[in-house]
Amino acid sequence: MHGVRFTCQPGCTNCCNMRGFVYLTEDDLQRAARYLGITPEAFEARYVYRTKTMLRLRKPPHSQCHFLEQHGCAIHPAKPTQCRLFPFWPELVESRIAWRRTAEYCPGMGKGELVQIGTALETAGEMRTAYPEMYTPRREAAAKLRSMT
Ligand code: SF4
Ligand code: SF4
Repeated sequence: MHGVRFTCQPGCTNCCNMRGFVYLTEDDLQRAARYLGITPEAFEARYVYRTKTMLRLRKPPHSQCHFLEQHGCAIHPAKPTQCRLFPFWPELVESRIAWRRTAEYCPGMGKGELVQIGTALETAGEMRTAYPEMYTPRREAAAKLRSMT
């Protein structure tokens, strides 16, 4: 790919409705708590599931995310890194097939100004930095295999 086009479409919440988990960095947790005017401890107790290596948002019953409202994200200015960077994730930017598949539910992909591939890859690099546990060489190799089948 030489470049990709993307502009998030107003009113769309398709990516928030996809099955999967929303992972957080420690900074994401702090920022979201501050935005809601509660302590990080209170935010974590209510919204976060923590393992030894990862933090992710808990899922409420019958929804993919606590913060998903009809017309968008209730914590939009402080949303987690993976939400902010979508669809510039390494597994999408580095695979034409995965980018095309994702565009089937993301109407913003293929629209707007051309983003040079170098810029897209740089943004994707932020994902690797933010979530090192998700992008170990072993996990990336497994993901690549899955995307080819
Ligand atoms: S699916 Fe695409 S267009 Fe829709 S909210 Fe997500 S990023 Fe924006
Ligand atoms: S935190 Fe916001 S942007 Fe991320 S999945 Fe939830 S509603 Fe969507």
